[in-house]
Formats: sequence, C-alpha cells, structure tokens
Amino acid sequence: MSSLVEVVLEEIKKHDASAVEEVELEIGELTLLGKEQCLFSYEVLSKDGPLKGSKLIIKEKKAKVKCGKCGSEGPIGRSDDPLDHLRLPRFSCPKCGENVEIVSGRDCIVTNLKLVVD
Ligand SMILES: [Zn+2]
Repeated sequence: MSSLVEVVLEEIKKHDASAVEEVELEIGELTLLGKEQCLFSYEVLSKDGPLKGSKLIIKEKKAKVKCGKCGSEGPIGRSDDPLDHLRLPRFSCPKCGENVEIVSGRDCIVTNLKLVVD
C-alpha cells in the first residue's frame, strides 16, 4: 500500500494538483492484500498528507492463468469441494492438468485518479 502513495504523489506532481479526490484501485484475486485490508490501510494513509480526505474505490479483478502446454487461458479453476478454501487454489490447467502460468491477478494497481487542480 505504501507504493500506492508513491504513485499518487507522482501524479500530483505531474499534474500540479493540490489534492486528491478519489483513487480507484484494482486488486487481483491473487494479491495477498484483501479488500478489507486495503480499505483499512488506506484509512490510515489518508488521515494525513497528500491523500487526506480522499476516497478509495476498490475493484476486484479475477485472476487469469495460461497453460504452457496446450495454451488454454482462463480463470483459475475452483472445485466444488467445500474443503477447497482451506487449501491453496489449484493452479493446474482445466483441460490437460499441466501446471499453468499466472498471467494476471497478482497486481495491485491504481487505475484511476481524480485530482484537484487549482
Ligand atoms: Zn493445458
């Protein structure tokens, strides 16, 4: 979350803005940061400094994986097993069962910023 502040600060400088009104953040399904955690961190970060008084909007993004063997792409497969949430998600291809590569879903990026420019 501290890198978020850096990104915002850079944008403020670039646009010569005086404050931030709104920050839109996209968090991938596989980031270690949960939505609640992000909101909490942001609350702390926006108490003072350049983010003071701004609003955070979080959009969750589904992860995408790609199979190196058959080239199949798609979301991470989830089984209906009720015990599944206790385990790590399965990162295997739904078509051929090979290991898949994570294409997206591990990032936490600022997608939109509303700045106040005097
Ligand atoms: Zn495959």
